[in-house]
Amino acid sequence: MNRVSAPVLLRLRPGEHRRLRDGHLWIYRDQIEPPIPSLAAGALVRVETDYGYDLGVGFYHPQSKIAVRLLLWHGEVDEHFFQQRIARALMLRQSAYGDSDVYRLVFGEADLLPGLVVDRYQDWLAVQFLSAGMDARAAMIVGALRNALPQVRGIIAKNDTVLRDKEGLPRQEEIVWGSIPERITTAFESGVRLHADLLGGQKTGLYLDQRMNYRLVAQWARNRRVLDCFTHQGGFAIHCALAGAQDVCAVDSSSAAIALAQENAALNGVAERCRFIEADVFDFLKEAVNAGQHWDMVILDPPAFAKSIHHIRSALRGYAEINRRALQLLGDGGILVSASCSHHISSAMLLDVITSEARRAGCRVRLVARGMQSPCHPIYLPMPETEYLTLLIVEVVRPQTP
Ligand code: SAH
Repeated sequence: MNRVSAPVLLRLRPGEHRRLRDGHLWIYRDQIEPPIPSLAAGALVRVETDYGYDLGVGFYHPQSKIAVRLLLWHGEVDEHFFQQRIARALMLRQSAYGDSDVYRLVFGEADLLPGLVVDRYQDWLAVQFLSAGMDARAAMIVGALRNALPQVRGIIAKNDTVLRDKEGLPRQEEIVWGSIPERITTAFESGVRLHADLLGGQKTGLYLDQRMNYRLVAQWARNRRVLDCFTHQGGFAIHCALAGAQDVCAVDSSSAAIALAQENAALNGVAERCRFIEADVFDFLKEAVNAGQHWDMVILDPPAFAKSIHHIRSALRGYAEINRRALQLLGDGGILVSASCSHHISSAMLLDVITSEARRAGCRVRLVARGMQSPCHPIYLPMPETEYLTLLIVEVVRPQTP
């Protein structure tokens, strides 16, 4: 017997429909009318509001806080479904980037594929199956990806993230189709080329969410001495060097990232103007201020300090410290580029931090540009959770006093 059984029907409790009817995709356990039948992780369910409105099908999880991830879909969840969604996701990237072949192809919820992330590095794909529903359908998804991009030569599942723990999924990395080279050398429209190493435990690809911001930031780098903090593989540093920075000093605590950043600088012919330092940025900035050092432009692109709502206060202290010290290193007309990739820290909060730290650092600031997550990480407005990256470019004002 090969008949697909109809998905189990779950009903929302009265009053729980509003967010979901607006297009949100997550249903928490306490929003569902009990009793909830016992179902396997990843099982397909159908959900109705208390008054019988059909919200379509979604993936169920018996333990995760998010009990159902909706798909905004009423049909079968088969390879054809994934093909359609992936083709739609590809359309947006092609509109945004033309012929470029380096971008996040699928950004989970924002592409209506909750728990699925796919990064494209030319003819190779790095996939993350972050929900049990997606994990159970990995083979179908691989098939759909190959169908959407027939030129793809290898797909690797980078299933080594903490998000999988919440869904009871093992962390593992595995080539799920074809083969993956040791190194992929990507090229951006800006002419910058960056290596990506997808194989191996701690290695990651690139931070594609900053893709559009590299050029925005680099515009300000001409003739400046630039300090790039949390450089990772040198994305901002190298774009700035190519845009005419006098010299670039770049700091990261990861030796693997620093080694790759150095290679990236050489690949782009700017190695002699770039210096890469393996250090903790908090220590580095403190010592630089104490030593009375100066830069014309400081870039801060730290990891997410506020991974959850409980960490907002300590995160704000972290942002305050690095922004204050960066401002202390800048003179009149200096440029501070300050990013945050914590969903819980809004652009307005970061701006407040900078404004008050400027006072402590004895200067004023002017906001001159703002960046956001690149369009291959679209913000799906019914789910504010999909917005997480903010980048502010401010100019330091230190009025001359007679
Ligand atoms: N600007 C980068 C992305 C930065 S991601 C780009 O555009 O590609 C954050 C980086 O911060 C990671 O490379 C991580 O190794 C580094 N990092 C995290 N904590 C750090 C610390 N305390 N000091 C220095 N680097 C740190």
